[in-house]
Amino acid sequence: MSDHKHHPESLMMSYGYKPELSQGAVKCPIFQTSTFVFQKAEDGKAFFEVAYGLRQPGEKEEPGLIYSRLNNPDLQILEERLCLWENAEECAVFESGMGAITTMLLEFLSPGDVLLFSNPLYGGTDHFIKHVLTRFGIEVMGFYPWEQDRLEEIVRKSGKGDRLKMVYVETPANPTNILIDIAACSRLAKAWSTPDKQVLLAVDNTYMGPLWQHPMEQGADLVLYSATKYIAGHSDVIAGACLGSKELIGRVKGLRSFLGCMAGPWTGWLLLRSLETLKVRMEAQAKGATAVAAFLQGHPKVKKVHYLGFLDDPGQQAIHAVQCLSAGAMLSFDVQGGEPEAFRFLNALKLVKLAVSLGSTESLAEHPATMTHVGVDPAEREKLGITGGLVRLSVGVEHPDDLIHDLAQALEAI
Ligand SMILES: *Cc1c(COP(=O)(O)O)cnc(C)c1O
Repeated sequence: MSDHKHHPESLMMSYGYKPELSQGAVKCPIFQTSTFVFQKAEDGKAFFEVAYGLRQPGEKEEPGLIYSRLNNPDLQILEERLCLWENAEECAVFESGMGAITTMLLEFLSPGDVLLFSNPLYGGTDHFIKHVLTRFGIEVMGFYPWEQDRLEEIVRKSGKGDRLKMVYVETPANPTNILIDIAACSRLAKAWSTPDKQVLLAVDNTYMGPLWQHPMEQGADLVLYSATKYIAGHSDVIAGACLGSKELIGRVKGLRSFLGCMAGPWTGWLLLRSLETLKVRMEAQAKGATAVAAFLQGHPKVKKVHYLGFLDDPGQQAIHAVQCLSAGAMLSFDVQGGEPEAFRFLNALKLVKLAVSLGSTESLAEHPATMTHVGVDPAEREKLGITGGLVRLSVGVEHPDDLIHDLAQALEAI
């Protein structure tokens, strides 16, 4: 036997699926069923014992299928395949990214605990942390990217370090691509952990994963995804995922089964299909983004391009070199002028669609200040560089020449 280990992209068509259990079908069918037949009452008993943690499964014992809120082959195979990209022990998939993020937060935080989070966060996550978690007695503290060298001091001066339970990070930050140092956050979490209280580090990896950033290698305990974005990649489904150790994800799955926010079989099947082309899509998107960024950089109607391939700050460059494998396919740029000029540009686009969301096969453009980030306090928006003239662009798989042609004619409209 050889010890050759296949790359994840080679396993996305087959891993975890046994054709002999499905009439020889080469592809995993959609198991559109709510419940599963037990061959004998003893099997049902055994499946429940394992599902409820009443005993550990035997060495060769596979988890039995019970009911689609607990497990379903489309979800189980999808979870196993997502683990390959992240090199994680276990994964839980959800019907949305918000489902994954909120279930994870609720499982690990209790009244009195303190959550430290990076700003800016995805709008939905930001709202949940500030307006929902706080209703349950969880204290939350945000920090800005320019404060990340002083995290230890911030926690110490707050006097709440002994209650710190989790650090939650989103990097690169949306929409200006500022990077947060995951390894530094991991050191902070470890420094405030005690024998009976582990401070967890959770990272939303939607923007760069699962191809270009592996937070667990930098010390993250939990990795979150809006699978709606690159993982699904076709703007046709909403989904989410949470990955980590067997122990932590076991807890997340436990709460998921009570909240009932698991993905359905049809969502699972769509994501299985999407994963087969994940790498070729993301690589084509990153290549297109390089060409688009280079075009925008020299354009007289463009003030500044925020793209990970153009980092000029040495601290940001150093973080990128350690934790990112690509400049990605997300960029934003300031047009000369403000909101009226940005709107003229957006309204003139033809090939690129004017829509929120990202990571999909088609290129999408939007106006953060009045759309995705309209909920952010105006003074804070200014500090974060989310100005009236800022446009965010998610580069798809179109031919870069056609994208550049479209952007060029829309910039003429300014
Ligand atoms: C879209 C997004 C989410 C929310 O995911 P949904 O699938 O829309 O629920 C969370 N985080 C980031 C970074 C996102 O882009």
